[in-house]
Amino acid sequence: MRKSLSRNIRRIKDKSSYSTGEIAKLLQVHSRTVQTWYKTGMKTIDGSQKPLLYMGADIKHFLAGQQRRGRTPLGVSQFFCLRCKKATTSEPSKIDITFTGKSIGRSGESVNITGNCRICQSRVTRFTTSNGVEALLDAMMNETCNSRLTGYEYAASNTDLGGGH
Ligand SMILES: [Zn+2]
Repeated sequence: MRKSLSRNIRRIKDKSSYSTGEIAKLLQVHSRTVQTWYKTGMKTIDGSQKPLLYMGADIKHFLAGQQRRGRTPLGVSQFFCLRCKKATTSEPSKIDITFTGKSIGRSGESVNITGNCRICQSRVTRFTTSNGVEALLDAMMNETCNSRLTGYEYAASNTDLGGGH
């Protein structure tokens, strides 16, 4: 699966810069997918403002890392569960962040996010950077406000929290 993505990656030249729209077109993915890559750590060209620009080499580097990890790039709010062998999400109350103190170049510091698989309750972990962690947490919290998108019957288990806020 996703063979077309790896084939299309070859169209990207290391030393050219690309906008979100250009990447989406070349790789035949939705521009929101490209934005998700950005939020989960794909590097922009230093100092680039909107529209954000990416170096070809950085795009390839990011996607190669994603493919090594789980073959399928995860959605921004997802974890890969080793027991379920698929993408999952975590209860927000179970999400925990650890700043490792390990520097990973321009992306800042390596950050571990752990949670509990919503399907089997086992521990799940994903890695991000201090630059990407805020957007990631944002998305994780937002997703839980929209239970219809997750399909994990979050609403049912959430009713006892009351309508306090
Ligand atoms: Zn699981």
